[in-house]
Amino acid sequence: MFNLEYSYLSLPGKFYQLVKPASFSKPETVLLNGALLEELAIPLTHQKDLLSFLLGDESDGKTSPFAQAYAGHQFGNFTNLGDGRAIVMGEWITASNQRFDIQLKGSGRTRYSRGGDGKATLKAMLREYLVSESMHHLNIPTSRSLLVAKTGELVQRETKQVGAVLARVMKSHIRIGTFEYARHAGTTEDLQALSDYTLHRLYPEMKDGASPALGLLKKVMTVQIDLVVNWMRVGFIHGVMNTDNVSISGETFDYGPCAFMNTYHPETVYSSIDKTGRYAFGNQPNMIKWNMARLAEALLPVIDPEPSTALQLAQACIDQFEVIWVEKYYEMMLLKLGIEKKAPELYWLVDELLALMLQLKLDYTNTFLALTHDKVTGEGILAGPEFKPWLDKWKSILNKSNGDEQSKNRMKENNPAFVPRNHLVEEALDAAVTGNLNLLEQLMMVLRKPYHYQENLVHFILPPPPGFDNDYATYCGT
Ligand code: AMP
Ligand code: MG
Repeated sequence: MFNLEYSYLSLPGKFYQLVKPASFSKPETVLLNGALLEELAIPLTHQKDLLSFLLGDESDGKTSPFAQAYAGHQFGNFTNLGDGRAIVMGEWITASNQRFDIQLKGSGRTRYSRGGDGKATLKAMLREYLVSESMHHLNIPTSRSLLVAKTGELVQRETKQVGAVLARVMKSHIRIGTFEYARHAGTTEDLQALSDYTLHRLYPEMKDGASPALGLLKKVMTVQIDLVVNWMRVGFIHGVMNTDNVSISGETFDYGPCAFMNTYHPETVYSSIDKTGRYAFGNQPNMIKWNMARLAEALLPVIDPEPSTALQLAQACIDQFEVIWVEKYYEMMLLKLGIEKKAPELYWLVDELLALMLQLKLDYTNTFLALTHDKVTGEGILAGPEFKPWLDKWKSILNKSNGDEQSKNRMKENNPAFVPRNHLVEEALDAAVTGNLNLLEQLMMVLRKPYHYQENLVHFILPPPPGFDNDYATYCGT
């Protein structure tokens, strides 16, 4: 009933372990993403079918689920990892011939589980579903969430918690850490096989260059810069940008300790384990550059057989990072201000605004929303005397260079009204784990149209109560 492919298994055996998902006594679907099923044209109308298929109950011998081997730099330290609680059920090919991994998370132990139980909690899986779908509707490349199901068992964390699995969909789960694994645990032939496979699957247009692996490096740097620029646009903090959580496809994934910033501050961190602010909001561009350097190192032997040439080529690519970043970042920030042009002479306008937002402790989302719609309930941002000089300068630039209607539209497309604010997410998830899905469903409905500002939805626009963020902490994959 479900024709899946397994192109990944054409790689050498050290890249994966064939493994079946755990069986659960009473699995029960909690959320099913009907829109995504339709987009992927998965011909399943009956949710029970999908769930039982994913849990392996209806396996007809044609499926070969597998866990992927990878390594990664976690907070700067190299570690051998791998899917410790995830299994790729197979690759789904859409009607338009696009290939997607369908992966089950929380599905039991694998060879790579180390000390972990291979399981996941309902709260963490619902959180991933909610935030990843919100990112999708914010027009940001991301893994998608297909379903969350309770497994019928409790999992031991600090306390016993309701267990669950999540099915997620991605163009590919190959990550920087997969290349680091190939470099450290494999031969040059293994690395070449991974590079060739990845290019063929994700970037076939780069296959025929003088150095396809260098082409791959450049491509990944481009898509990752675009991705992190988008995160900065909406105030998203990934929280754990370890190289094993950075996809080669340029999709956001691994929603563990992620969060959305309320009050603007580049040092904002919510993750309980990020004690040094390595993955703080404003440090994300530095960290993606650092991660790209790790990918470059891993690829060296296949960039060029002559080590000094390979190093020179890779270094020249990484050296381009700042120039590309600055241009793309400011281009995006100027779009948030309604200005559509590459205009280095206007970068100061962005810098001055951010300095002002920092000084006045302004809400990130709502400041841009206020500029877009002239006023926003609960925010007197535009009225204050401190803000007026900047506002006057911005307005005079807009009048000179842009049609009013066009710049308003640009701002509406780039400045969301609704992001999954931490206090709303927590409130909705806490209710959902007790069986009440109302708040979660309401929140997801609002987040499906994040750019459609509606004054009456003020509850979803207001920042959290004072003090909330001071105590708010997020946690890695629980
Ligand atoms: P993360 O930081 O969430 O990407 O996880 C880092 C590594 O820990 C990955 O290799 C995961 O597969 C593994 N991991 C996380 N939670 C568990 C768990 N409960 N059981 C086994 N492995 C886990
Ligand atoms: Mg991970």
